[in-house]
Amino acid sequence: MQNNLNQKIQWFPGHMHKAQKEVRALLPQIDLIIEVLDARIPFSSENPMIADIRGDKPTLKIFNKSDLADPELTEAWQQYFQPQPHIQTLVLNSQQGDRRQQVLSKIKQMVPHKGDATKVIHAVILGIPNVGKSTLINALAGRPIAKTGNEPAVTKMQQRIKLEDGILLIDTPGMLWPNIENAPSGYRLAATGGMKETAFELADIGYFTVEYLMQAYPEQLKARFQLDTLPDEHDLDPPLAVLEEMGRQRGCLAKGGMVDLDKISRILLNELRSGQLGRITLETPEMMQAELIEVEKQRQLKAQKEAEK
Ligand code: GDP
Repeated sequence: MQNNLNQKIQWFPGHMHKAQKEVRALLPQIDLIIEVLDARIPFSSENPMIADIRGDKPTLKIFNKSDLADPELTEAWQQYFQPQPHIQTLVLNSQQGDRRQQVLSKIKQMVPHKGDATKVIHAVILGIPNVGKSTLINALAGRPIAKTGNEPAVTKMQQRIKLEDGILLIDTPGMLWPNIENAPSGYRLAATGGMKETAFELADIGYFTVEYLMQAYPEQLKARFQLDTLPDEHDLDPPLAVLEEMGRQRGCLAKGGMVDLDKISRILLNELRSGQLGRITLETPEMMQAELIEVEKQRQLKAQKEAEK
């Protein structure tokens, strides 16, 4: 499936390469990296390159869209990242009026030896498409600088934005890619809208999402789709049974009375993304650790096969 996924996803290699080159070239003059993450998928919305090249550069991880994420898990993720030296976290969302102030004071706190007219703090802001980076930049600048919207856009030129005396924010062109080496991350990115759905079958994203919600948020799922019970392990395919029942509840029937799985998946994803199912986080630090072990196993297997050729 992974090969299939990589073939289907168009990551605009030119833009990606440009982004990576740009960030590497900038790093020596940068005091602080601001990494904007989606609080619902703090691992899957990371850009793996940043982790590789940041070294011990101070990094502020912003858990954005926190209004949509599960507060308990947001805290668990903060605790997961916090012990790492040089990393700090900040939980934000676009409804907070004091975002600018919160970010500015965190920047100053993380680079205490700079931040005046003679020693300007240079902070670069990075994030994969659709995490809300442009919305945040506009809030920080206090004026519309970056184009926002639901379609991934590509910043054309490097922008240097003076946030206040002593703090310069740098936005880079090009596109940063998420953690797609891990197959489940692809589904989570698709479910939250962080990756174009066309890379997957809609019903597959629906199935994946239901399977997770059944285990992590059964009550919210039952309440929203008026399900009395969820199938147990005796059912042949519990997530499919639930998706079909949800489809019947919402009248998503195709010819012959079959449930239209694409249609009910579309409804589920829209309601998940708009927060109608409640505040939901799609991954936990424990899940991520198990998945990383699996990714490493696959890598080793691949290397072994290559060596045997
Ligand atoms: P970018 O591609 O990272 O620059 O993302 P944008 O700033 O264009 O935002 C992508 C979408 O997410 C837009 O529809 C925004 O309105 C929405 N968005 C941004 N921040 C938040 C947030 O904190 N909460 C919620 N619910 N939506 C947000």
